[in-house]
Amino acid sequence: MRETSREMSAAGSVAGLPRPRVDGMPLPWITRIDPDGPVWARVYPIRVLHCQAEWRCQVCGERLPARAWVVLEAGRAVLSDAALHYECIVMAFRWCPHLRALDGELEALEVTRGAIHAGQVPLDEIAEYGDQTTTWTVPAP
Ligand SMILES: [Zn+2]
Repeated sequence: MRETSREMSAAGSVAGLPRPRVDGMPLPWITRIDPDGPVWARVYPIRVLHCQAEWRCQVCGERLPARAWVVLEAGRAVLSDAALHYECIVMAFRWCPHLRALDGELEALEVTRGAIHAGQVPLDEIAEYGDQTTTWTVPAP
């Protein structure tokens, strides 16, 4: 039986480090939690929106510094459409089976908000993010 605690409920896990652990794995802040436990491949869209609009880390949910990390897939698309702290991206590559399976096809990149395009617009040129998540890319320099 999985543990449900104050740190993890149907509303999601608390922000910050260290991450709550389920079956030994650190639980990302954006990962959806059902009554049976985390749904590892699913996210809360509202939390992805918070990450995008408020420049928060998808793993820990805390605010990011001016420079943060993204994981790029084919086409320079940002995996999960959100950024991470350095220590959080290291944790993700250590623990996430999806990332480990794709390692070699992915590129970790340290960026500023201006390097990321939400749709066609650089993040640092967006005054009001709005209430919809957006596909993030990092165009080639
Ligand atoms: Zn983080």
